[in-house]
Amino acid sequence: MSKEMKTQTGEGGVQPRGVLARLTPYSPGKPIWEVQQELGLQEVVKLASNENPLGPSPKAVEAASALLTELHRYPDAAAVRLREAIAVHTGLSEEELIVTNGGDELLTLIAQTFLDPGDEVIVPDPTFSEYAFGTLLMNAEVVRVPLGEGFRYDVDALLRAVSERTKILWLCSPNNPTGTYLPAGELRRLLDSLRPGILVVYDAAYSHYVTADDYTDGLAYVQEGYGLVVLQTFSKIYGLAGLRVGFGAAPRGVIRHLLQAKEPFNVNTLAQTAAAAALTDKAHVEASRQLNEEGRLRLYAVCRELGLDYTGSMANFVLIRLGSDAQQACARLLSRGIILRYGGAWGLPEHVRISIGSHAEMDRLIDGLRWLAQGEA
Ligand SMILES: *Cc1c(COP(=O)(O)O)cnc(C)c1O
Repeated sequence: MSKEMKTQTGEGGVQPRGVLARLTPYSPGKPIWEVQQELGLQEVVKLASNENPLGPSPKAVEAASALLTELHRYPDAAAVRLREAIAVHTGLSEEELIVTNGGDELLTLIAQTFLDPGDEVIVPDPTFSEYAFGTLLMNAEVVRVPLGEGFRYDVDALLRAVSERTKILWLCSPNNPTGTYLPAGELRRLLDSLRPGILVVYDAAYSHYVTADDYTDGLAYVQEGYGLVVLQTFSKIYGLAGLRVGFGAAPRGVIRHLLQAKEPFNVNTLAQTAAAAALTDKAHVEASRQLNEEGRLRLYAVCRELGLDYTGSMANFVLIRLGSDAQQACARLLSRGIILRYGGAWGLPEHVRISIGSHAEMDRLIDGLRWLAQGEA
């Protein structure tokens, strides 16, 4: 072993912050190439990361392609054009918007901006793991509040969890991984009941897929002046997950604080341009929504046929209860080239989360579910 290696890894080497021991690593969906390589399969269907089966917005691809020769330039640090486009699209002002390197960067930025050690945050359970990640990274405390019957939000339970140390309430609607949502009236009741000094983060990453009339994407509440941050992403319906771009909408004061902690060149040039173009691509959004609705209904019908419990979803995935051998079922389906997300990491050992795919992908999935139900004959 060389001298440098010894000082990096041996005793007496540099110690990481203690909080790292409290973090659980994010478990992403297995990439397609890995399953192809491991199993020697050509045809692999990935329904594990809530990606858009129609691919990226064609308008976004065209806009990004045209900028490839400009890659020697730094991106616009303030994302001026994209913020203008989002302002037009949402009716908010540019000072109420921040653009980030995926919605994930916004989540950690919120934690970095507002959390001191010892502060508490409230998160529903189960939900997206990144809220706890950002919180723990800042050495703040996570208070988990279980969702109610049928994984529905229980606003009273959330309010009961508020303490003197509560700083942030993280909400995800539709919620990942359950697909359930917080009705607009319930969000207002929650906002009206909280004492000042608590920031509500309303993660609306899946808002475009919602068909319920009493849903809100939260932007109207920002306009009304409530102290909440709404998160949006270009990774889901716009199909730009690989570029990493999302945004936050919030009162000006909150945005100003977030900008103080932001890296200058956080969003790359291609992402900024592609996102602005994607916002104008109504045909792609509409087709994506339509395909998703068809896929959701088809999956519900198959669940009923096979006697599987499912949670009605407003997102582009459905949480299904496969029972005590759910983990093994996931492994079996993986051996047939179908990648799903097992619920273990969310404390749901009998569940699996399935993203809605293209018609052909859903055919493959449904064949696989029937094959499992028939005892894999
Ligand atoms: C996908 C997702 C996001 C944002 O993802 P990015 O790719 O980082 O934009 C945020 N919240 C939830 C709940 C998500 O599922």
